[in-house]
Amino acid sequence: MPVSFVRRVEDFVCERCGQAVAGDGYTNHCPACLWSKHVDIAPGDRAAGCGGLMEPVDVESRAGGYRILHRCVQCGAEKWNQAAPQDDFEQILAVARASGNRKLGL
Ligand SMILES: [Zn+2]
Ligand SMILES: [Zn+2]
Repeated sequence: MPVSFVRRVEDFVCERCGQAVAGDGYTNHCPACLWSKHVDIAPGDRAAGCGGLMEPVDVESRAGGYRILHRCVQCGAEKWNQAAPQDDFEQILAVARASGNRKLGL
């Protein structure tokens, strides 16, 4: 069955840090702490019944921006998400540092 991207504009309050986030239909994570929530199977479908918080565990720089690897603290599912321009860059760097340290075994 084809799954199409469903764009929804939703404001939400981050369950990790309490930041009020103005939803733009694309951002699925908090711009302040970068945590996300496990709600989508296909982007935007809100079909995953898990609802666990997703921790930013890795970042990768690509042409045109960054992407963030989120891992669900509840079920362990991992998902790459495009970083948004309003994301806190210090947080992105902090995630990159922590991830680099883990890879080096520090
Ligand atoms: Zn947050
Ligand atoms: Zn989950």
